Amino acid sequence: MNTFIKEYMEEHKDYFNQVSEHIFHTPETRFEEFKSAEFLSAECEKQGFEVKRNIANIPTAFKATYGTGKPVIAFLGEYDALPGLSQTPGKSEAEQVKESPDFGHGCGHNLLGTGAFAAACAAKAYLEENNQEGTVVFYGCPGEEGGSGKTFMVRDGEFEGVDAALTWHPSPGNSIMSKPTLANYQISFKFKGVAAHAANSPHLGRSALDAVELMNVGVNYLREHIIQDARVHYAVTDTGGLSPAVVQPRAEVLYLIRAPKNNQVEGIYQRICKIAEGAALMTETQLEIEFVKACSNYVPNRSLEKVLYKNLKEVGVEESSDQEIAYAKEIWETFSPDEQEFYLDVMRGFGYIGDGSEFEGKYLNDGISDYQETEEIFYGSTDVADVSWVVPTAQLTAATSTLGTALHTWQMTAQGISDFAHKGMMRAASAMALTGIELLSSEEQLKQIKEEHAKFQSKNPYIAPIPKDVRPSTLGGKRI
Ligand SMILES: [Zn+2]
Repeated sequence: MNTFIKEYMEEHKDYFNQVSEHIFHTPETRFEEFKSAEFLSAECEKQGFEVKRNIANIPTAFKATYGTGKPVIAFLGEYDALPGLSQTPGKSEAEQVKESPDFGHGCGHNLLGTGAFAAACAAKAYLEENNQEGTVVFYGCPGEEGGSGKTFMVRDGEFEGVDAALTWHPSPGNSIMSKPTLANYQISFKFKGVAAHAANSPHLGRSALDAVELMNVGVNYLREHIIQDARVHYAVTDTGGLSPAVVQPRAEVLYLIRAPKNNQVEGIYQRICKIAEGAALMTETQLEIEFVKACSNYVPNRSLEKVLYKNLKEVGVEESSDQEIAYAKEIWETFSPDEQEFYLDVMRGFGYIGDGSEFEGKYLNDGISDYQETEEIFYGSTDVADVSWVVPTAQLTAATSTLGTALHTWQMTAQGISDFAHKGMMRAASAMALTGIELLSSEEQLKQIKEEHAKFQSKNPYIAPIPKDVRPSTLGGKRI
């Protein structure tokens, strides 16, 4: 099995590198990844998959299927970029490619989507070669960044019938992402007041901005009375205008509420709604609450993680060339002293548990972190979480960037199509492909994985955190 995958990846690596480069050079933000989604869909068709576009009624979501019967193994790929991160690749200084749109692959989703696609292609090739029954599905998952695309797809039943799902994330480390993540809700609170001359007739005005301010004060008091692991952040997205001489007739604040469990987020959300209503009452303004999106907490499947870890070890980490090390060193030198000192914090977020001694004098990670079955929370969220509620799921990270590179930075974008990034991508693809093939071939192993999941599901039936009538929204706030 390993030899087959090794040979397959070696033979096709130039092709997959080109796919990753193409997506890198076409950065598009959430739910508007029209070119990237169509490009990947067409490549899936060329590789012999049957593609269903526009799944979950999302134009940039698709499902590429190969094979027949059970089991059904899914690989999840993303391809959305981020605003503010346009960056020339291969540089060691911030250098925007384009002023408009200023988008870039600062989270490495060009690698993520291509790596998962490569894994699906390799698993398909294995089935073909061995004339084996089973189904391989590559899910084109849009809008991960602030959009929770997968949560909409799970809500609409797109993962029904899948037996196991695998995915990965680019990072500076090689590890299994075994930490549970936080569930979240994102909600917009919109206040409507009455405009008036602020000096001449202030008594006739009803300030929507006052309502936003009072609401934020109320929530700041609430923070003392919520569980420690919860997080509540907000951004004022509309202050109501630029003139202090006008009583602001409209204002809007966007809240992001996070907690370890879905029901905890729901509880905090209900209390925040009461505070918003109170602010509207105090200011005689009208309140409209718009649910933007949500995602669940991630549920690790330990049995599946162990198989993925074993295969990641089997694949191993190849040596870096002098050229690769030299570029990584240049990137390292762009980090501030604080960033250099705390680089292990970044790594720990991805599951690294050591003290860093093995990285002494290095710029690239050439090891694999030990697998840790941990309940320690990762203080972040992912929409992979919703898939993990309905299908046994496991994720890994592969080192595609210099040690300590944080996601969503120009440095992450700059390294996005480097040689070591592509090597990491193929490493992730190989480990996922091997795992997929193992599940397609071993009923016993899959049974154990599914039993673990069934045990969780029997106690925790999935309730989609996004209400039925809510549609995904683009970066500009447009509902699709
Ligand atoms: Zn990401």
